Amino acid sequence: MARRRQIYEGKAKILYEGPEPGTLIQYFKDDATAFNAQKRGTISGKGVLNNRISEHIFTALGAIGVPTHFIRRLNMREQLIRQVEIIPIEVVIRNVAAGSLSKRLGIEEGTQLPRTIIEYYYKDDALGDPLIADEHIACFGWATQEEMNDIADMAIRVNDFMCGMFAAIGIRLVDFKLEFGRVWDGDYARVILADEISPDGCRLWDLKSNEKLDKDRFRLDLGNVAEAYQEIARRLGLMPEGEEANSVLDFDSHRKKRGR
Ligand code: UDP
Repeated sequence: MARRRQIYEGKAKILYEGPEPGTLIQYFKDDATAFNAQKRGTISGKGVLNNRISEHIFTALGAIGVPTHFIRRLNMREQLIRQVEIIPIEVVIRNVAAGSLSKRLGIEEGTQLPRTIIEYYYKDDALGDPLIADEHIACFGWATQEEMNDIADMAIRVNDFMCGMFAAIGIRLVDFKLEFGRVWDGDYARVILADEISPDGCRLWDLKSNEKLDKDRFRLDLGNVAEAYQEIARRLGLMPEGEEANSVLDFDSHRKKRGR
C-alpha cells in the first residue's frame, strides 16, 4: 500500500491526507505532553482509548445536532474526518474551579462555579497559548463576531450534553477544551466542532471520591494514568465486557507487529 501523505503532526495526533478531497485521517498517538510540552511522556494505549472515547462523544453530539468534523472511525487508532480550517482559538468551558483558573485567581480547586465560564486562549505554542478576550479575537481577525456567537452557542450545548452524559456514569465534568474549524460551501463558511474530546482535554473527577480520571494524573505524576483513561472508556460502555482492557491494547500491538 502506498504510504499516505502526512499533513501535520501535533503532540498527540497525526493528520494524513484522506481518501477523498476534503477529508483527512486523524491518527491518535500514545504521546502525552503537559505544561506547554515541557513535560513529555507516553501513556500506553491512550491513542486507542481516545479514538474510541472521542468517536463516542462526537457521534452523540452529532445525533443532537451539533455539527462536527467526525465522519467515522477507521480502526483502533484512526478516524476519518472532514478537513477544516482550524480557528486558532482554544475554547475552555469550566463548571468547577481547577487548573489555571484556580492558580490565576486564587480560587480553591473544586469550588463549584455559580455559572459556567467560557474562556478563550490563542493557539500559539511559542507564546504558551495565552488567555485572550473577545476583543483580541475581533481585533486580529481570528474569527468573526458571528463565528464567535456560533462557537459560544455550540460550546454551551456541548457542555450541557456532556455534563449529563458524565453525571450518568458518576463523573463530574470539571472543565474541558474544544477546538472549532471552518468548512467552506462556495463563498459561505460555517463553523463545526473539530479536534477531539477525550480525557486529554477534559478534567473528569469521580463524583463520590473526587479521584481525577484524566490527564492531570500525568501532569501531576499521580500514577495509574492509562488505568484512568480505561476507567472512563469502561464507564462509557466502550470496553469489551468481562475482558481486561489489555486485550484491546494487545490487539493494537499485534496489528503493529504485522506492520499495518
Ligand atoms: N486544556 C487542553 N489543552 C491545553 C490547555 C488546556 O486540553 O493546551 C484543557 C485541560 O485539560 C483542562 C481545561 O482545558 O481540562 C482547562 O485547562 P487549564 O486552563 O486549567 O490549564 P492547565 O491547568 O491544564 O494548564
